[in-house]
This record gives sequence, C-alpha cells and structure tokens, in this order.
Amino acid sequence: MEIFTDIKRSSEALESIYSKSEIRQIFRVFWEEKVGVSKARSILNTWESIPNENLIDWKQFIEQLLLGVPYQYALGFCYFCGHRIFVDQRVLIPRPETEELVHYILDKIPESGTGLDFGTGSGAIAIALKSKRQKWTFHAVDVSEGACTIAKHNARINEVQVELHCLDALKDDFHELPNLDLIVSNPPYIPQIHHSTMDALVVDHEPRIALFVPDDDPFVFYRRIAEVASIKLNAGGLVAVEIHYDGAKGVVDCFSSPIFTNVEIKTDINGHERFVFARKC
Ligand code: GLN
Repeated sequence: MEIFTDIKRSSEALESIYSKSEIRQIFRVFWEEKVGVSKARSILNTWESIPNENLIDWKQFIEQLLLGVPYQYALGFCYFCGHRIFVDQRVLIPRPETEELVHYILDKIPESGTGLDFGTGSGAIAIALKSKRQKWTFHAVDVSEGACTIAKHNARINEVQVELHCLDALKDDFHELPNLDLIVSNPPYIPQIHHSTMDALVVDHEPRIALFVPDDDPFVFYRRIAEVASIKLNAGGLVAVEIHYDGAKGVVDCFSSPIFTNVEIKTDINGHERFVFARKC
C-alpha cells in the first residue's frame, strides 16, 4: 500500500482537530516510538518495508484520532518530565503546566522527606518527584480504582516506588499515612459552568471526576487539602497545588494564618495564575 499517500490523506483529514505541526509530531511519535521506525527512515519518509500488522495499527490509530480521541489516549502514552506515562480514559492526560509545578516543587524541597500526591491520577507528579528526589518517600491517593491501577503500573515501568492508597480523599481519613513534608495536588478544579465552552478533546474523553467541581463549591478540594495539611503536615512543610486560572484568591483563602504562612501564587508559562504554595507554620 502507498502508505505515504495514506499518511498525507490522514494528515489532511485531521487538520480540523490538530494543527499541521501537531499532526507531524503525533505521526512521528507513532512511527518512531510505537512502531519503532528509526528516526532516519521516519524523516526520509521511506515507508516501503513497513510490516502489515503495523499498517493495521496505523489504521486503528488514525480512526481513533478522527473520532476525536486525544492522541495521547490513542497512542497509549504521553511524556511527563521526561517520563513515559501510560494513559487511558481512566486518567487525565498530564499537562505541561503540571510539569512546571513539579519544577517549582523541586526548587523548594530538601533532599529527603515524605510527600503525598493528593488525587494522583496517572501518578505522573509522584513519579516525576520521586525520580528526582530518591531519598523521599512518596504516597499517592486517588478515589478511582482505575487511576490507582494505572498509577501503580506507571510507577513500575518507571522503576520508582510510590505507595498507592485507593481512598476517597474528601471523606476518608488519612490515618494510615505518616506525617508529611509535602502535599502536592492537581485536583479537579474546573467549575461545571465551563463545560459547554471547553474543547471536545477534553470534555468528551477525559474523566469528568478528575476535571470538574461544583459551581457552588469550587474550592472543595483545596479546603480538604488544608484540613489534611493541618493534621499531617510537619511544621515548615510545603503545600503545592495547581489551580484554575481565575481561582487564586479562593485557594489562597483556604491556606490562611495561623496554620499556614508564606502563601505564594505563581503563574504558568501562559501567564495564568496557576499554582499556589504555602508553608505550614
Ligand atoms: N489543567 C486541566 C485542563 O486545563 C485541568 C486539570 C484539573 O482540573 N486539575 O484541562
């Protein structure tokens, strides 16, 4: 088959969903990393000897993309802070902003300690932190059994140890966890009201439970994080959370004195207020 013609046709069909450069990048990752076509061949577009089964994979991949499935789910993985992270529709696809959160945290924490990733999803944050701070112990919680299974799998394939606890962080207590030096979280934070204006790639495929919060209680997760921190976080310990771009004030209010100090808002690469940090007094 003229795979090159097929690639060209598929690429054109996908232009209603992705930009040309995104399509090039997605196809490159498919051929180089999923199929294992070497860079040189992929660049030279010399496709003649691609085995039949790979062409079937390719067809299925394109079909999924045309259905609007995010390419990370169609590939079955994405990269986060250089780590290959398995993703499917049970977990949120880790975002570049969340990589920024990890970098900020690495600048703020000492060589050793105990951390908790609250609502870990794919496990990306805990895995990235643990791999850079090997003397730390990391715990991660999530209410979704699917997410816990995926996070465990991701920790294993990335060869790091993360202690997974499948629990409802809003309701269950944290008595089985030790005292902590860090609580990090990228909790659900998008008010429901934004649902209708969001990209179909996100709302039709990513788990709602990981994205949305009630319009009348958008800070429910941050209040709970503050509560857990007030019990479990050691003095001087760090809270580091990702937030909705127009929610900074509400989140800051959750981390008030006399329990917290040094509350700080940081912007992401797009200039949006995206992270809040606080220290336990
Ligand atoms: N940052 C994600 C988005 O923009 C949302 C993540 C979240 O709700 N925690 O889609």
